[in-house]
Amino acid sequence: MSDPPVLAGRVERIRERITAAGGDPASVQLIAVTKGFTAAAPAAALAVGLVDFGENYAQELEAKSQALAGAQPPPRWHAIGRLQRNKVRSLAGVVHLWQSVDRLPLGLEIARRAPGAAVLVQVNVSDEPQKGGCVPADAPDLVRSLRDAGLDVRGLMAVGASGPPEVARPGFRVLRRLADDLDLTVRSMGMSADLEVAVEEGSTMVRVGTALFGVRAARTSVRDYAERVQED
Ligand SMILES: *Cc1c(COP(=O)(O)O)cnc(C)c1O
Repeated sequence: MSDPPVLAGRVERIRERITAAGGDPASVQLIAVTKGFTAAAPAAALAVGLVDFGENYAQELEAKSQALAGAQPPPRWHAIGRLQRNKVRSLAGVVHLWQSVDRLPLGLEIARRAPGAAVLVQVNVSDEPQKGGCVPADAPDLVRSLRDAGLDVRGLMAVGASGPPEVARPGFRVLRRLADDLDLTVRSMGMSADLEVAVEEGSTMVRVGTALFGVRAARTSVRDYAERVQED
């Protein structure tokens, strides 16, 4: 996992996949998802030229950002998981892009703790309740309200529907259309398994974990559940 030549080869392979899907690796940003791995993962990724890292859990993000404080080039941390309001404060000075803003109370807390922060609105395009995100119909109002709160809304984010990659296509198409309607240029969609479909449908940012670092150890369901309970 932290062997630089192996990792460099995997990065190259992802760039080839993006190209094969008709994308330009120079304009599809690669976010390396390091959740479930120690700080050795982003450290190794920095060594092969990756600078953007996605984390799902606040504590993990904080711990890794501390472990890599002072690293060159400085890593950019992306919050990509379900986020509770009470975790915003500890992340405010750390997060480069809040990708999973799916409700106004969370956005208002980010605006309060990190005024003017860059955010994406997460949209649930799969109709799967266990996935985060606002319903597509609510996205325009949420984008407007977040802007009113002074946040820099850059785009939209979605997690593709579970199943074979093709299953995710209609949802990615919904995200694309919604972003176009709202004049938003960032479309964060596509993960290890479905990045080709996402790129074909206009992704500008793919979030890749497994294809870079290998399979993660499963989190225990109890802890998972406890961290995902929302207070809003
Ligand atoms: C875990 C995760 C990813 C990366 O998934 P892989 O299948 O390991 O590439 C991307 N986005 C989100 C929101 C995730 O939770």
